[in-house]
Amino acid sequence: MLPNILNLTLKELNTILTQKGYNSFRSVQIFTAIHAQGINNFQNISTIPLYLRENLANLYSISCLNIAQDLTSSDGTIKFNLETLDNHHIESIFIPNSSTNGRNTLCISSQIGCGMGCKFCATASLGLKRNLSTAEIISQVYLIQSYLDKLAQPLNIHNLVYMGMGEPLHNYFNVLQSLKILCCSYGKNISGKRITVSTSGIVKNIARLGMESNVNIAISLNAATDMIRSQIMPINNKWNLASLLEACKNFSQYSSRRVTFEYVLISNINDSPKDAILLSHLLKNIRCKINLIPFNPHSLSNFQRPFPNKIYNFQKSLLNKNLSVFIRNSRGSDIGAACGTLHLNP
Ligand code: SF4
Repeated sequence: MLPNILNLTLKELNTILTQKGYNSFRSVQIFTAIHAQGINNFQNISTIPLYLRENLANLYSISCLNIAQDLTSSDGTIKFNLETLDNHHIESIFIPNSSTNGRNTLCISSQIGCGMGCKFCATASLGLKRNLSTAEIISQVYLIQSYLDKLAQPLNIHNLVYMGMGEPLHNYFNVLQSLKILCCSYGKNISGKRITVSTSGIVKNIARLGMESNVNIAISLNAATDMIRSQIMPINNKWNLASLLEACKNFSQYSSRRVTFEYVLISNINDSPKDAILLSHLLKNIRCKINLIPFNPHSLSNFQRPFPNKIYNFQKSLLNKNLSVFIRNSRGSDIGAACGTLHLNP
């Protein structure tokens, strides 16, 4: 199988082409055609000569995913089941009007399955099959934008979140490479401010992401004590809360960006008034905001969603400590697209 050209940054493409004797401007023309204009066939890059199109086709492939299925929720959310060339499947979720300013968000996957084993998450049941390549990560964006362009009322992707299947910082190189390509001014030119990478707490790569990219980070926190966090997130046995929060402070310091903490509220596990107080103490010295996500029940877990009054009281307790706290109700629950429920079945 030929290597995929989507894996290459502009700098890497330029190095390869200049070594082969081509002028530097050719790499910009090719990169712009593929990444900014969405051309997915070398023969259609009309800005370069025919012989170069043929040479590229002999050296590289350009596609790597197909849309196997798309399901639209009653709330407009669209779940895409995408098939890789080696017949694996991943899911990406398009969430229209997902933010307060009416912007649309695409949630993309970084791995096939996931090896982190978070107890509240359906993806964990798949185990880790393999990392997605850089090409497979960015293809989710290109393929789905092209699908949205063809709708009767075309839609745009404004925000990008790495919160689908997989642990992005467990696939650090390919994720970082995808960020470089998606943010490149000769390509899609997506602002880092519009991208959020989520992690369950791969501590060694958190501050590194702050230094090597300009994107936002979201930490899947979900508990205020090591005892509870270790019960529901095995990664806490490797990197505990103290080391995780230290890494978050470093991220914020290096990047001058606020950290987002995601907290899945699970009935009688982490939703007590005491949990809220402990959480407020834990986060009091970190520039952050907190997203409370009421647990989305699914067939692979016995956990329950807390009653609404418990959710509001939890939020109120944190607001009283002057923390920035939002309740995030997940979208697309009728098509198995809600947060924590991705496992390739509707
Ligand atoms: S919550 Fe994220 S890191 Fe944890 S098992 Fe699910 S996909 Fe993996």
